Amino acid sequence: MAKIFCVANQKGGVGKTTTTVNLAAGLAKVGQRVLMVDLDPQGNATMGSGVDKRQLELSIYDVLLESATVAEARVKSDKLAAAGCSYDILGANRELAGAEVELVDVERREKRLKQALGAVGDDYDFILIDCPPSLSMLTLNGLCCAHGVIVPMQCEYFALEGLADLVNTIKQVHANLNRDLAIIGLLRVMFDPRIMLQQQVSEQLKTRFGNKVFDTVIPRNVRLAEAPSYGLPGVVFDPSSKGAQAFVNFAQEMVLRVETM
Ligand code: ATP
Ligand code: MG
Repeated sequence: MAKIFCVANQKGGVGKTTTTVNLAAGLAKVGQRVLMVDLDPQGNATMGSGVDKRQLELSIYDVLLESATVAEARVKSDKLAAAGCSYDILGANRELAGAEVELVDVERREKRLKQALGAVGDDYDFILIDCPPSLSMLTLNGLCCAHGVIVPMQCEYFALEGLADLVNTIKQVHANLNRDLAIIGLLRVMFDPRIMLQQQVSEQLKTRFGNKVFDTVIPRNVRLAEAPSYGLPGVVFDPSSKGAQAFVNFAQEMVLRVETM
């Protein structure tokens, strides 16, 4: 059965999508079977995996509204396959923004994704879910089906404040909706060791959250930022870059963590 992880942080632009697509590619590279679920109407993870969100015939929207199964809606990316680093993609586009309203009167609407993914659990080792920058019904659907949450964060002054809201939400979901859920770890991203403040916040995180902080640190690296415009994760776009290497290390760290879960 696949282990399911949400990549979540209600703050915008902290590196959720970059983490999701590069972890997916890194896991594929070390031989894991991966499904990447884009749960954000922005569709960045879809585009960043080489799939045009405007051309999707079926998407996560159809899955949430139960007009398609995951097996019907998932796609592969030719670009990833050509690079020998393939993972399956359940894509998203603007249509998904309507799902929240359309599901308002539906019972157990926060469990829709969980039900849908149940049918493909045996096809994968990992299912990674890229969440939108909010604690919305969409994110709730992600949290309800996950075994763990990966929280990418920049080591900046306000990082810890936003974290409290997320930790509370995760606690509530754990108590009321999903007993399996845990914060699997905090991932330090866009890290620049030359900046003293970042080093200090990084130390604070380790003191406060101990082994919940992943050992791997993702550096600020321009190749990771350039890769999406080629429709590729950085891990595939420039495997020798510092950022790509860090994400492959992170994939290996995740494989080890899962073994001890
Ligand atoms: P949103 O909340 O809008 O979904 P996000 O949390 O998914 O945003 P990303 O889209 O992954 O964040 O990253 C925000 C920006 O930072 C992007 O332009 C991305 O290319 C860039 N970026 C992310 N990680 C790195 C990194 N390690 N080094 C350099 N640039 C990065
Ligand atoms: Mg994003």
